[in-house]
Amino acid sequence: MNHEKVSILGVDFDNKTKEVFLEKLMERVNSQQKTFVVTANPEIVMYANSDAAYMSLLKEADYIAADGIGIVKGAQILETPIVERVAGFDLLTDLLEKANQQGSRVYFLGAKEEVLQQAVQNVQKKYPAIQLVGSRNGYFDFSDSSIIEAVQATQPDMIFVALGFPKQEQWIHQYLNSASKGLLMGVGGSFDVLSGQSKRAPKIFIDLNIEWLYRLIKQPTRLKRMMVLPKFLLEVKREKKKHV
Ligand code: UDP
Repeated sequence: MNHEKVSILGVDFDNKTKEVFLEKLMERVNSQQKTFVVTANPEIVMYANSDAAYMSLLKEADYIAADGIGIVKGAQILETPIVERVAGFDLLTDLLEKANQQGSRVYFLGAKEEVLQQAVQNVQKKYPAIQLVGSRNGYFDFSDSSIIEAVQATQPDMIFVALGFPKQEQWIHQYLNSASKGLLMGVGGSFDVLSGQSKRAPKIFIDLNIEWLYRLIKQPTRLKRMMVLPKFLLEVKREKKKHV
């Protein structure tokens, strides 16, 4: 049986292909519904399990995509398989493609100033019909609500928030409390990739589901962060045992 939602350690993933995600998200953008999208990897799931406030933020998301092969593996272990991995970066570029087709209003929030400016330039060149209504770097006082007002004033249809977790989800939640429309998605280090500053893994790594290995080779300091994956799988196995 194919479940609509797959719960992994308390996080409810949407069991959808990227195509279906995109269709649903665009329906909501076109009917101007507020939408909170999270792309969650094992690191996020483990963090949510150690931080109740962050877990309750995730409960308010409209969609949670399975970002990472670890999540797909976890779902297999629980015998509630997820149809496919939906990488945050892929969802972002597909949404930009749609925004370009429709001339949508897009806002970019996050990353360092020079990274952001380069990302904005590259996006504008590649997707000339997008209305890039504003951008702001990710180094500001997160409690300053005037920033939320300034973003809202530009009336964006889509806002991509690249602050890394948990900050991006916290900011999105605050924004949606007072907004009347907008699709918001946390995109982690994606502006660094859009700017050309950091590179996505070659296709072969992505196809073999070893993008994590490429990242580790490029940036060995990620090892500490990646050690969360075996812990995650162990926790999932424990969870499975509880239910047999
Ligand atoms: N960042 C930011 N403000 C902060 C902390 C981080 O704008 O206060 C940006 C950072 O410059 C980078 C992104 O958030 O562009 C996070 O990248 P990271 O590699 O941590 O995210 P991941 O994709 O691994 O979740």
